[in-house]
Amino acid sequence: MNPLQMSLSEMAEGVRQQKLSSRDLVEFYRGRIQKFDKEINSFISLNEEAGAEASRIDEAVKSGRSNGRLLGVPIGIKDLLCTKGLATTAGSKILSNFIPPYDCTVVSRLKEEGAIVLGKLNLDEFAMGSSNETSYFGVCRNPWNKAYVPGGSSGGSAAAVAMGLAPATIGTDTGGSIRQPASFCGVVGFKPTYGRVSRYGIVAYASSLDQAGPMTRSVADAALLSEVISGQDPLDQTTTQRKVPTWQSQLKADLKGLKVGVLKEFVTDSLHADVKKTVNAGIEALCEAGAEIVEVSVPLTKFAVPVYYLIAASEASSNLARYDGVKYGHRAEFSSLSGLDLETFYSKTRGEGFGDEVKRRIMLGTYCLSSGYFDQYYTKACQVRRLIKNEYDSAFAKCDVIVSPVTTTPAFKIGERVSDPLQMYMNDLFTTSTNLAGLPGISVPFGFSVDRLPIGVQLTGAPFAEQSLLNCASALEVAANLKGVVPYES
Ligand code: GLN
Repeated sequence: MNPLQMSLSEMAEGVRQQKLSSRDLVEFYRGRIQKFDKEINSFISLNEEAGAEASRIDEAVKSGRSNGRLLGVPIGIKDLLCTKGLATTAGSKILSNFIPPYDCTVVSRLKEEGAIVLGKLNLDEFAMGSSNETSYFGVCRNPWNKAYVPGGSSGGSAAAVAMGLAPATIGTDTGGSIRQPASFCGVVGFKPTYGRVSRYGIVAYASSLDQAGPMTRSVADAALLSEVISGQDPLDQTTTQRKVPTWQSQLKADLKGLKVGVLKEFVTDSLHADVKKTVNAGIEALCEAGAEIVEVSVPLTKFAVPVYYLIAASEASSNLARYDGVKYGHRAEFSSLSGLDLETFYSKTRGEGFGDEVKRRIMLGTYCLSSGYFDQYYTKACQVRRLIKNEYDSAFAKCDVIVSPVTTTPAFKIGERVSDPLQMYMNDLFTTSTNLAGLPGISVPFGFSVDRLPIGVQLTGAPFAEQSLLNCASALEVAANLKGVVPYES
């Protein structure tokens, strides 16, 4: 059996029935990482204990263990999620020596179901970026064309799945960081509703927007992983008490009775012709699967990017204040600490530890939060955020799911946008409003550009209506029929 052609459930079932061993699965993926990751740079570190952990699962199965929805399945984790005993760097020099003493809730839940942490994946520093170019550990490359970015910030998580270096990975999405790299790399990327997944133990970027989610080869795998990682957590007060539905078993690609809204604002001057074509084909496929197509409008999406960057930078400037070199992380070298004033200690440490993009966000955010400007910037952004949410509420009175592009263009070349942060930020035009409104969103691979770069279609759902969203995703997946279309020789 070729693991590259198996679903996560099939792998877990295979391990449970002893038709394949978890150890072999881990070795298989480690072998591929060794062979292919030099060029891609999707992993920052590997879990050296993965093989031993897999053997322990195999032993447990032999002596009767049969539970675990991910029994013996290796999963890659974005290096923003704390993993006990395994370095968690957030892609930054300032955390390059940080080894967490505990697992974040997402990783504990994966382990409870028998999953094995394969390694930690590359990302933009502190998840700030859209191209994986701000990582302290070097750029990650798009497996479809190595001159191109994989997207960001969960670039490593997307590239690893696309290249078959992990059967599935976990990413995080604050303004598009799961959906955008998923689209660029041709994998499924799903951000559940804000509050579904605990943020406990995930290095905080912008707490009111951050949400973890799966990056997978199929919609069914994304549904399963989301079920495993979702649910109330006493350690994160923003998690919902709602029960987690069984999304995977209820998946159906028949959309009769569903209304799909086409976002009127998606046709912009900046929209690439190949993206437009792909999204239009996606809309047709949804219609053919039985959905009724209606037009909806969220006019304030035109302000989503500035509102997002004000709120995200403000929250980031506050969250990142903790990295001061005192208790953990990088500390600047001083010949002697005696006589050293605290400000010099902090500024040298932080000056060395953070990269340029992170510094830019800290400065921007600190400015927005400063007295005298707070109301003008931060409060105003929060008010517009509320209005965007209200517009979505009205849109969802007319439809169940909204379809739109993920980004205006397919993946761009490495280096092409680094010197123009505004152009880079505009890449988030269609993804950020989903986070501002706390909605679930997914990117499903649906086509290719003329240059043979993948293009995804984005679906956005009403709060907690993940099932309708996943069903539409499933219909797109069936229509796209891209199974086996991969960037490596299979
Ligand atoms: N590109 C966006 C940013 O730089 C989104 C990042 C994310 O979702 N983590 O903030």
